Amino acid sequence: MFITSSLVLPRSRANADSDRLAKPYCHCWNQRAPMSWKQLNSCSCGEDKDCNEWNWEQPQTSGTSWVVISEDQKQVTFHPFYSSGTAAVRGNMPLQHNYHYYWEVKMLTETYGTDIMVGIGTDKVNIADSQFKFTSLLGQDEESYGLSYTGAVHHGATVTRDSAGFCRGTIVGVRLDMWRGTLEFYLNRKPQGIAFYNLRRHQALYPMVCSTAAQSSMRLTYAASWRASLLVDAAKTLAAASRTRTRLPPGLWYKLRSQFWLTLPNEGCLLDDEDEESMQVSESLQLAPNVSRAGMKRRYWQTSPLPPASPERATCQTLP
Ligand SMILES: [Zn+2]
Repeated sequence: MFITSSLVLPRSRANADSDRLAKPYCHCWNQRAPMSWKQLNSCSCGEDKDCNEWNWEQPQTSGTSWVVISEDQKQVTFHPFYSSGTAAVRGNMPLQHNYHYYWEVKMLTETYGTDIMVGIGTDKVNIADSQFKFTSLLGQDEESYGLSYTGAVHHGATVTRDSAGFCRGTIVGVRLDMWRGTLEFYLNRKPQGIAFYNLRRHQALYPMVCSTAAQSSMRLTYAASWRASLLVDAAKTLAAASRTRTRLPPGLWYKLRSQFWLTLPNEGCLLDDEDEESMQVSESLQLAPNVSRAGMKRRYWQTSPLPPASPERATCQTLP
């Protein structure tokens, strides 16, 4: 008896399906059993870059029954007892025009419920208003932008869905370019395409996170910025070059390594490899600049209208 080929899922289809599932960054989170509070801190993968230019701020309008922020102001626990609405916190530093920002938040607990979101908002976002409503706070109006754990992107009460979203153990990255006014989300350091343009219409924005889920925790693991300049553009181009076999002078390499986010692909480019492989490549990028990049194919991926062409995007389309 023959086994029909239709029973075997084609590889590309299988890949596409697995791409739609939220995944943790590392293998520490693979066990299904719930973790104790102590175990939440046992995974430090992807947290070796010690750069925290800002921290979370305890909202004045809601007490510690809504949000508990750790002493170092990096870890946030929403609804430590039970949930009766939406809790949110914002960063303690406004994000200004003409700077590039990149930060990462690691999910420490299961994602469930109405919404758990990572994003940005202006100082007009009213956190207190949604305290007793279960809602997707970030993106419910024109004043904020948010990525939901479901993969949906929210802004101005409009929802688009084009990523796998995040789960326990996922590292969610946010790249805000306040020179060009663009916002791009990353999942486990993979770019998800530019989600929004025209961010410069806001005078100042703040990093924000929100959750309706009881005992949900997340940690700010990295927060860097660089003022827009020719230096940054040159560094980005060099970082792109370092993904090929170009040798960089050690001083330059260490400078780039301290701003590792510049070496992440961006502007709508995706790595084409399996998660694990690209993760290893990403690690090796940080540790050994001259390691071979064989097999690291890149493809062009963009759903939104593009801004005018720039040299750095041209590097994104180049197959090394
Ligand atoms: Zn880990």
